[in-house]
Amino acid sequence: MPDDQRRPELLKTTGLGVHYGGVVAVDGVDLTIGRGELVGLIGPNGAGKTTTVDAISGFTTHSGRVVLDGADLSERSPHERARAGLARTWQSVELFEDLTVRQHCEVAANRAGLFDLFADAVWPKRARERSAVEAALESMELTGVADERPSELPHGTQKLVGVARALAAEPEVLLLDEPAAGLDSAESEHFGHRLRSIVDAGTSALLIDHDTQLVMNVCDCVYVLDFGSVITSGPPEEVRNDPRVIEAYLGVGAERNARKASDPRPEDDTEGGSWR
Ligand code: ATP
Repeated sequence: MPDDQRRPELLKTTGLGVHYGGVVAVDGVDLTIGRGELVGLIGPNGAGKTTTVDAISGFTTHSGRVVLDGADLSERSPHERARAGLARTWQSVELFEDLTVRQHCEVAANRAGLFDLFADAVWPKRARERSAVEAALESMELTGVADERPSELPHGTQKLVGVARALAAEPEVLLLDEPAAGLDSAESEHFGHRLRSIVDAGTSALLIDHDTQLVMNVCDCVYVLDFGSVITSGPPEEVRNDPRVIEAYLGVGAERNARKASDPRPEDDTEGGSWR
């Protein structure tokens, strides 16, 4: 997709690379998220999607550059990147047993920084945090379960708690790692509409999901990873028909078996072979 057809750039990775011993998990990924854009990142199991988010958010050592709104974050720690405006969700949810849904959001909303010192003078911090928390809960339709603990909720709803927690930090860019896993197809479609509204209201986002229907339906631009490299990117209608993408997905069965034999990590229960 030509850059002049994209929105002004907000997040940009250049030559992003991650290796684990001899495994090259991410290999020279150049990826751009425009201001107010919803960008999809898809690819078969083991393609490097989660590792790309790990690298952008600073949770794994990487080569290459990560630049947010002109600021180079490449050498920064995860919490510094979060403070700069990156928020992520986790594939494995990672919620706390002892906290209610609302408390998860309150913890995320409480980001003390220099800006807050000035902002506190004109708008008390508690009121600001409360409004961010309530907005995050509402956007994921969790207000009704805000006082429950995540373990009391279905898995799909727990994933939405992870998204609400990330939103409560009022990020510039939201990095979503399989937020719709555990939702049925109607819930997934509904989630897509909600996500689109969040982006249209000003928060840019990167969406990883194995539900390619969801990604293709809601994203402005889609990147496809295979073996750690971007094989194509562009508007969903172009990417959907790209023979390289079809090949990457249809060839996935044999590849997964080969990886399974060499990768000691347990596989998750998501499917990498679904297409269209
Ligand atoms: P999935 O769709 O199954 O979540 P993915 O596209 O997110 O897959 P990654 O989890 O990023 O892929 O993995 C990319 C490659 O890096 C795989 O070969 C994986 O086995 C390897 N890998 C990821 N994390 C580690 C790790 N901590 N140690 C060793 N290898 C890893």
